Amino acid sequence: MSAITMRELTKVYPGGVRALDALDLDIVDGEFFALLGPSGCGKTTLLRTIAGLEVASGGSVHIGERNVTNLPPGKRDVAMVFQDYALFPHMTVQDNIAYPLRIKKVDRRERTGKAAETADELGLSALLQRRPGQLSGGQQQRVALARAMACHPQVFLLDEPLSNLDARLRLEARTFLKRLQRELGVTTVFVTHDQAEALALADRIAVMEGGRIRQVGTPTEVFRRPANTFVAGFIGSTPMNLVGTRVRGDELAVGAARLPLPDDARGQVTDGERLVYAVRPEYLDYSPTQVAGALSGQVVVVENLGSVSLVSLDVPTDDTDGGASSVQVVVAEGREPDPGDTGWVVPRPGRSLLYRDGDLVTAGAEAGVPAAAQG
Ligand code: ATP
Repeated sequence: MSAITMRELTKVYPGGVRALDALDLDIVDGEFFALLGPSGCGKTTLLRTIAGLEVASGGSVHIGERNVTNLPPGKRDVAMVFQDYALFPHMTVQDNIAYPLRIKKVDRRERTGKAAETADELGLSALLQRRPGQLSGGQQQRVALARAMACHPQVFLLDEPLSNLDARLRLEARTFLKRLQRELGVTTVFVTHDQAEALALADRIAVMEGGRIRQVGTPTEVFRRPANTFVAGFIGSTPMNLVGTRVRGDELAVGAARLPLPDDARGQVTDGERLVYAVRPEYLDYSPTQVAGALSGQVVVVENLGSVSLVSLDVPTDDTDGGASSVQVVVAEGREPDPGDTGWVVPRPGRSLLYRDGDLVTAGAEAGVPAAAQG
């Protein structure tokens, strides 16, 4: 078993920066797990604390049944792949891969055999006698992975594993990495600041902010039901629309427009309450003609994204003081309006969310299921 369990894990750097703030997290055995968040949120510190490269200031880390909180890196049975791969430039690919085995005093024949075997699995057999300087970025990444794999660790820790590759190679390496992790089935934690990468690769994602975890969930959960407006704003290639609204009976008022109350917010809100209405640009439909239950506004920008366009409208949000919000909607190819047009955006059923003081207003995990029915 190589689940990773963290309890009240805290890291305060000299000078007082609280990089991890009493953090609790459970990573399941065999899981491909992403630590995601903006620069400075503490994700690298968390990875390095699991590795033992940083000493925790408080709390604990368990790998399987073992409390590793005070163990040095070499005793934790983890392998870390660094952002810059940290290969030895003067050593051949073969010696780089075999290096951790040499440190473990595995005899030469066995380590050469294991290095060759691992290189073969990663398609590196033809490159064993080259040095890192004679390899492409993608090949260097594979050598770094092979070096980590050769020891058969219980846990892989990957720090921004794709950030050194160009955009095209990144996609290839992403698919490769996902397949490799599936085949090996080793618990793997990776750090990324790229939400698309986390969504594409991970079984589950922890979204971090200021040394704390704001949500843990599958890619579908964090994309469809962000637990708070921080996650809502961070996940998605286009940010979630967040618009001020007021509850009016069983409707929501946004300026003069009236929208249906999301199903799972029924019974959870009070008449007249001010909330934030949220819907993703992908879950809105654009109409050039008036529709009931829609927001209307003036088209200000149309951005071509290839097969779709991202259309931004200025939507009046307050009848009294003339306030407006920018609302974005994804529109299919060939159906784009022109700047200056008046348009309507209609939320798809079941795809709107409400936030109160930054947190999701919900009756439970499943939309439409009253809290009482969920036990
Ligand atoms: P990035 O994506 O930029 O790498 P991150 O989320 O990985 O950011 P960390 O590198 O873990 O963030 O840093 C978390 C906080 O701790 C930041 O405020 C950072 O400035 C601070 N920090 C990191 N390393 C040290 C250190 N050695 N000494 C003091 N403060 C540090």
